Amino acid sequence: MYLTRLIYASSVTGIFNESSLEDILKKARLHNAKQGITGMLCFSNNYFIQCLEGSRESVNETYNKILKDTRHSNIVIIDYSEICSREFSSWDMAYVPATKNMEPINLKFTTSTEFNPYNISGSAAFLMLLELRNNLISV
Ligand code: FAD
Repeated sequence: MYLTRLIYASSVTGIFNESSLEDILKKARLHNAKQGITGMLCFSNNYFIQCLEGSRESVNETYNKILKDTRHSNIVIIDYSEICSREFSSWDMAYVPATKNMEPINLKFTTSTEFNPYNISGSAAFLMLLELRNNLISV
């Protein structure tokens, strides 16, 4: 079975709060651990960007579930590739919340300090997620 990585962007729909996020992460981590999925979810400026790593079958199955979730919409695949190794193997689903610290990272990988994952190329999105992961490790 091939190891793959999928990165998508989406927009929050309706009222979204801390408990909505906790609910998503709780279910995601439970399901991902069973399916051998690892990755990272970032939420900022009412947008999500998420990276899913795992077997082609598991990533597809999980992405299809995520697509049906009405808590977000305008779900767009930014990048999909077969990979040799995982970059988020320590996390069933790492989470990066919106913070001021993201502004320099946004500027580095996009045209502005404002987070908008629809304006990021696939390769830049991947590098941005790696930088966020490295910050997560160093705090
Ligand atoms: P159920 O909870 O019975 O869900 C049935 C269907 O309803 C699913 O299609 C689900 O998408 C939808 N749904 C569930 N709860 C709600 C709700 N409160 N409001 C609206 N629709 C709902 N799941 C993972 O397993 N792994 C992930 O990495 C992951 N990441 C996510 C990232 C985002 C941004 C979002 C919004 C959701 C994510 N989820 C993830 C949750 C996923 O969409 C499903 O809710 C979860 O996997 C449970 O689905 P289920 O079919 O097993 O069961």
